[in-house]
Amino acid sequence: MTEKLKGIAASAGVAVAKAYLLVQPDLSFETKTVENSDNEETRLDAALTASTDELSLIKEKAEASLGADAASVFDAHMMVLSDPDFVSQIKDTIKSKKENAEAALKEVADSFITIFEGMTDNPYMQERAADIKDVTKRVMANLLGVKLPSPALINEEVIIVADDLTPSETAQLDKKYVKAFVTNIGGKTSHSAIMANTLEIPAVLGLGNITELVKNGDLIAASGLTGEVVINPDEATQAEFKAAGEAYAKQKAEWAQLKNAETLTADGKHFELAANIGTPKDVEGVNDNGSEAIGLYRTEFLYMDSDHFPTEDEQYEAYKAVLEGMNGKPVVVRTMDIGGDKKLPYFQMPEEMNPFLGWRALRISLSEGGDAMFRTQLRALLRASVHGRLRIMFPMVALVSEFRKAKAIYDEEKANLISEGTAIADNIEVGIMVEIPAAAVLADQFAKEVDFFSIGTNDLIQYTMAADRMNEKVSYLYQPYNPSILRLIDNVIKAAHAEGKWTGMCGAMAGDQTAVPLLMGMGLDEFSMSATSVLQTRALMKRLDSKKMEELAHKALTETSTVEEVLTLVDEYTK
Ligand code: PEP
Ligand code: MG
Repeated sequence: MTEKLKGIAASAGVAVAKAYLLVQPDLSFETKTVENSDNEETRLDAALTASTDELSLIKEKAEASLGADAASVFDAHMMVLSDPDFVSQIKDTIKSKKENAEAALKEVADSFITIFEGMTDNPYMQERAADIKDVTKRVMANLLGVKLPSPALINEEVIIVADDLTPSETAQLDKKYVKAFVTNIGGKTSHSAIMANTLEIPAVLGLGNITELVKNGDLIAASGLTGEVVINPDEATQAEFKAAGEAYAKQKAEWAQLKNAETLTADGKHFELAANIGTPKDVEGVNDNGSEAIGLYRTEFLYMDSDHFPTEDEQYEAYKAVLEGMNGKPVVVRTMDIGGDKKLPYFQMPEEMNPFLGWRALRISLSEGGDAMFRTQLRALLRASVHGRLRIMFPMVALVSEFRKAKAIYDEEKANLISEGTAIADNIEVGIMVEIPAAAVLADQFAKEVDFFSIGTNDLIQYTMAADRMNEKVSYLYQPYNPSILRLIDNVIKAAHAEGKWTGMCGAMAGDQTAVPLLMGMGLDEFSMSATSVLQTRALMKRLDSKKMEELAHKALTETSTVEEVLTLVDEYTK
């Protein structure tokens, strides 16, 4: 049956393809007493073999698309399957307790997991607990005869249907086959949206219960331009979506002509157009889209895509690759921003009532538990600085004293490296993200001490409006064009300029085509967005007059009280 849904258009593009459900199947089972233990052992052996076969196939695919390092996690999984202790204990339990294989598997796996998780002084062994959990799920699915979704094995064009996608799941999706993804939760600035934009995969998020409405193999039409999703569309609807996709592709081709053009307004004013990245691999897209800089490298992805804290050398290699890839163009690297919706499998975080208001980002870096990892990251950055033009910024700064502490640690590590004889660039800039209202209000004081600001509107809006950026129910409050937000931004830009400093923006608002004219008018110096928005923004700036945008911004800042009034003004000034 045809069904139409409306979600949040989170990554541009249109697709029509079969659904691939990325949801965990039900793995519940009944504990049974069995007379024939041999039969259970045979079932277990068959499930172990099937799981090993699946894992080696997934590993092979992962190696081809992600590289040997990323694929090595599957070796750890296969090792669990062939561990004689693990397997013999399950078989012993089947025999001694006369239990079915499912119950014995769960009992033995749980006891291994408890032991490994208890080794709090041995992070390596703690990580093994996660491997056992993963592998047990696969063996259990094979015992129960259900299929675990394996995105790495997709070999036909599909639209992924999921509750949400973690950054590592998103990174595994092969663009060749994955034509779009549609999810129950998430919004424009959720991390799945950010990844979709980087990978240039169309995405519609926040659809509520699409995983319940769709079956594997159903045809889906999805538009990341309008947020419309149709399940089992008729021929006419399919044709409509395909036409919209072609029109978008044509528009993209026009924007592509501006790849090597300067970013100048109609009256010749230059703005720096930069791109956001999550991994060194994204640099290619940054250059392909003619970006002038990287305005935000979210280094936490380096931590999230690893099964251990990345070492100083591992980080150095990543930062060096990005700096070199940009050929002397500026690169703003943000120190790690873990917490909120970003967790690490190997780092225990306390359960919090409000993770977005909790122990995250610089708060972790400046705490006793985070000091060593912060210093490691700063050393890696300082060492890499000679390979390009580095700018470092700290996330989630609320207090001037936090910046001072972070800067003091930076200075200390810099002095240490210099005394060790390590070469360090002499033009590194050190700034902060302005994403907490306290910092935006006190920007005049911060501006005396930092080299630059980068406004993180994704968080700044959620904190100013007290509206969770992931929560659909309050998304009406998530208003980038609200005059209160505009005034905060204006305050930050003016404060920086008064001290001769520059201000960038790396939240999604910087690439929002409605917000750009307002931000130009306020004199924002650098706009950093998903690489895929850069050329479109260059095209927009080219046709606007900077003096006229100043007038627009002035009016919006002084004469409006609602988003609607702001939108009317933008319309009037950009027609
Ligand atoms: C922001 O808050 O605007 C930002 C760019 O950081 P993140 O989206 O990673 O929180
Ligand atoms: Mg943020």
